[in-house]
Amino acid sequence: MVKHGKKVTVYTRAAEHPGHFKVVDDGILLCIYCNYAIKWEKKSTVDDHVRGPVHCAKNAAYEKKQRNGEIRQQRTITSTISIADSKKELIEDLIQALATANIPLEKVNSLIPFF
Ligand SMILES: [Zn+2]
Repeated sequence: MVKHGKKVTVYTRAAEHPGHFKVVDDGILLCIYCNYAIKWEKKSTVDDHVRGPVHCAKNAAYEKKQRNGEIRQQRTITSTISIADSKKELIEDLIQALATANIPLEKVNSLIPFF
């Protein structure tokens, strides 16, 4: 989308409202407060969302929670996949280590308290 000779991207929209949105998976504009993906192609859609009563209420609630230290970060798809990958890698490494040391796999149960 070209406007005023400048290319508008999802990052442009995020920058127009600093602190309200984050860009997820390089193309989704996610409202931090509402936990909601906004259509960002039209500036008015984003502006209306930021001014909307739901957003304002959630914004206030979020800031209250943040002050009380209750904020839980939601994982993106990318970070979920990379966590799953690193878990898989750990398991494969563990199996390899046990096999190399000639330790039966069922012994892994006695390692569970260490995880
Ligand atoms: Zn919102």
